[in-house]
Amino acid sequence: MSSNDDAPLGTLCGYVAIVGRPNVGKSTLLNHLLGQKISITSRKPQTTRNAVVGIKTEGDVQIIFVDTPGLHLNETRAINRYMNRAASTAMKDVDVVVFLVDRFIWNDEDEAVAAQLSRVQCPIILAVNKVDKVEDKETLLPHLQKLAEKLKVDEVIPVSALRNINLERLESLLVERLPEGIHLYPEDQITDRSSRFMAAEIVREKITRQLGDELPYQMAVEIEEFKQEGALLTISALILVERDGQKRILIGEKGERIKQIGQQARLDMEKLFESKIMLNLWVKVKSGWSDDERALRSLGYNDI
Ligand code: GDP
Ligand code: MG
Repeated sequence: MSSNDDAPLGTLCGYVAIVGRPNVGKSTLLNHLLGQKISITSRKPQTTRNAVVGIKTEGDVQIIFVDTPGLHLNETRAINRYMNRAASTAMKDVDVVVFLVDRFIWNDEDEAVAAQLSRVQCPIILAVNKVDKVEDKETLLPHLQKLAEKLKVDEVIPVSALRNINLERLESLLVERLPEGIHLYPEDQITDRSSRFMAAEIVREKITRQLGDELPYQMAVEIEEFKQEGALLTISALILVERDGQKRILIGEKGERIKQIGQQARLDMEKLFESKIMLNLWVKVKSGWSDDERALRSLGYNDI
């Protein structure tokens, strides 16, 4: 009798965490590696509150990406504690870490991420992002070498997440480091996030885009209704803010702003869910929620 236990599986499957301080381009990188929009990006830091899992299956290889919220220094609010916890959790139990930095910029927040990574056992690939914005490319090489020595990483690679520079090379560095294993998700699945979660993320993104600097930092989106009836998907979302003033800003003159947010969100949802969408948005003031662990949990910020 022969046993097949030692026979190679022939398939690779593993977890990759993309880590880095806010705004270095983690969500952009994830989206471009996946070739599809999963994570929400914006110019303002702290847009990503939840680790979003994106899945890429190509032939024998399945990569499961974990997009981490940024680490937040010197912050005591419950929401920041949660975000820090989520970020450190995501770095454990992965097979490869991509540490993303923004060109030559290195600050306390990068330092904090590096400190977290010093405890990580798996291989780390340092990706220096936004090289499309580096005019003097000559200075890159010595910079990359210096970082590599300082951080004891496996590989250093310059990339542009936004302009798709060197992303294939980055991906092959990841694949080389994945363990053998059976695929954990079906080939066509691109996220394990629920449709409700995705719907909330879309609303949040549109609010961020609309408000820019006026964005109330304490804002959450809760999906109250998600109902498919025939060809129509009805989604009702509750937007929670902390103060009356924030509610007024969000609604805008004669409701103009919330209407815009709703229209833009609906278009994205129609593409994502491949259905006609009826979207209802409500704005509610719920003071103190961002500083209350229990309220956060009830809003779903506990799922890692
Ligand atoms: P995250 O907070 O780390 O997830 O960062 P995001 O992915 O949200 O990106 C923050 C900002 O940097 C966005 O405005 C992106 O368009 C921009 N960005 C990301 N990658 C690149 C890049 O390779 N080149 C340039 N020029 N901008 C980038
Ligand atoms: Mg992000």
